[in-house]
Amino acid sequence: MKLTTPDIDGAAPRAAHRTELVGLTREELTEFAVANNMRPFRGQQLVEWIYRHGVNDFAAMTNIARVDRERFAEIATISTLSVKREERSTDGTRKFLFELADRKTVETVLIPEGERRTLCLSTQVGCAMGCRFCLTAQQGLERHLTAGEIVDQLLSVQRLTGERMTNAVFMGMGEPLHNFDAVVRAVQVLTDDRGIGLSARRVTVSTSGLVPKIHDLIHAQGVRFALAVSLNATTDTVRDEVMPINRRYPIRELVGALEAYSRERRDMGFVEYVLLGGVNDTVADAHRLANLLRRVRCKINLIPYNAVAGAAYEAPTGEAVEDFRQILLAEGYSVFTRKARGDDISAACGQLRQETGG
Ligand code: SF4
Repeated sequence: MKLTTPDIDGAAPRAAHRTELVGLTREELTEFAVANNMRPFRGQQLVEWIYRHGVNDFAAMTNIARVDRERFAEIATISTLSVKREERSTDGTRKFLFELADRKTVETVLIPEGERRTLCLSTQVGCAMGCRFCLTAQQGLERHLTAGEIVDQLLSVQRLTGERMTNAVFMGMGEPLHNFDAVVRAVQVLTDDRGIGLSARRVTVSTSGLVPKIHDLIHAQGVRFALAVSLNATTDTVRDEVMPINRRYPIRELVGALEAYSRERRDMGFVEYVLLGGVNDTVADAHRLANLLRRVRCKINLIPYNAVAGAAYEAPTGEAVEDFRQILLAEGYSVFTRKARGDDISAACGQLRQETGG
């Protein structure tokens, strides 16, 4: 691979002649140093400065000879994101609107909980999947993010907050597996022990149900992650309506892919289930869900829908949420009800971007 003018993801525009270093793996940063007539250990130094220390300025890389720092500054860039807006919730949730080099914007949400710092990453500008409960869907797909732009969300939030993230979830704007290569690369960079070093169990890729890509991810060599499937219905009729991707890959195939994940990766998967008032939150749904997942090792996250103005659905009642949870618990499942976080800010996916006019 030639790294002086990389074209890693293809789809996104980038600086004309300077290499974007964020998003390159440790091996690629070493190749980059060597390709520019430096010793291989310069690549490892870049890993440490950029990924471990979060430095965004070559001048601050004090153990690199000045001549090499100046050379890097001529031929490479580090972060390409800038914060356009930030909102803070009274519950500690922080939502960032980042502007990309081409002035398009994406959202990143930081959810603190005890010692845990979970960052919800975006993978695309907009989304093509058309889920009816989702604001991002209304924006359509504008483009994929590069691996660098995905990883950069985490590095930028760490710099802005002074806090180290403990968890990353690919649950922001976009369908991660629709941007497969960039997401795989980002996962590799996030979980590299000698770089950012997130535990693979704490990096969760969530999908709306691109079944063939789930199988590709399961079989991807050297990629460590946890898998979450956003199910949100227990019949194809309802899921076809709520999540149009179901018309191509119905529930049985999706649950089969999750089963393959837990079997082949020897790990528990996660099932995300957004409870939509009166649509998928009935007692019959809870029993059907329990039956559907009978053969799958998984934990279930229930997410009461956060209704916003103009939304297609309503929030479930507290009673419906509790009944649903109790049925699944009685069936022996691990069930968590996610607290609605950031209710007082634009917490729904895609909302902040929409409010600012993107
Ligand atoms: S929920 Fe996710 S996959 Fe579905 S439209 Fe929204 S961003 Fe895309």
